[in-house]
Amino acid sequence: MPDFTRSRERMVETQITRRGVGDAAVLDAMREVPRERFVDRGFEEFAYEDSPLPIAENQTISQPYIVAIMIEACAVQPGDSVLEVGVGSGYAAAVLSRIAARVHGIERHASLAAMARSRLQRLGYDNVEVRTGDGTKGWPEVAPFDVILVSAGGPEVPRALKEQLAIGGRLVIPVGVGDEGQTLLKLVRESATDFRTENLGPVKFVPLIGEQGWAEETPPSK
Ligand code: SAM
Repeated sequence: MPDFTRSRERMVETQITRRGVGDAAVLDAMREVPRERFVDRGFEEFAYEDSPLPIAENQTISQPYIVAIMIEACAVQPGDSVLEVGVGSGYAAAVLSRIAARVHGIERHASLAAMARSRLQRLGYDNVEVRTGDGTKGWPEVAPFDVILVSAGGPEVPRALKEQLAIGGRLVIPVGVGDEGQTLLKLVRESATDFRTENLGPVKFVPLIGEQGWAEETPPSK
């Protein structure tokens, strides 16, 4: 495999830093994680392009810039316990694992979860645990989480995820459909009952399918 170090540096400089992401921990993590190891075979040469790429099961590995702004919005701290819903290739989980103490990832497609698990293991990211399941229900056995990152777009914020957020915790999720499209939301849990919501702008994600997401047979029209 060719050495992609320079491509990775260039990606961080031109696609991420220049567009305003300034969190040093996020930038360092993205300089470190080899994105070419998370794309499908044959796509390695495109791993540092400014776009999402297709992965198995008709899903995508998100655009690097989107991964960066979502993780920056999560304000991940070194001791944090993180939940990622929609592990896909495992790339965002790997980036999160370089900043947080522990990452728990859920992926609804068993084949993607298995692939992500073995990649993460092979690369030595041993503070990440991946399981197959419906992430809209969260992972109650290990909750509460300081950070919850949802990498697929739902009709609303799943109730279970709000319940599993620690006080002071941050939840970042794309929400919405139709002419309005999806909006990236950040919720901060200020108390047991109060959440502050910020709108981080328009985004486009694959659908969040599950009990507290879209039904499988009626995916969103857009
Ligand atoms: N973060 C991923 C990465 O770095 O490759 C990108 C994920 S892709 C944009 C979204 C993923 O969410 C897909 O793999 C999809 O199967 C998954 N997904 C959708 N609904 C889900 C659910 N309810 N629970 C878990 N995963 C889900």
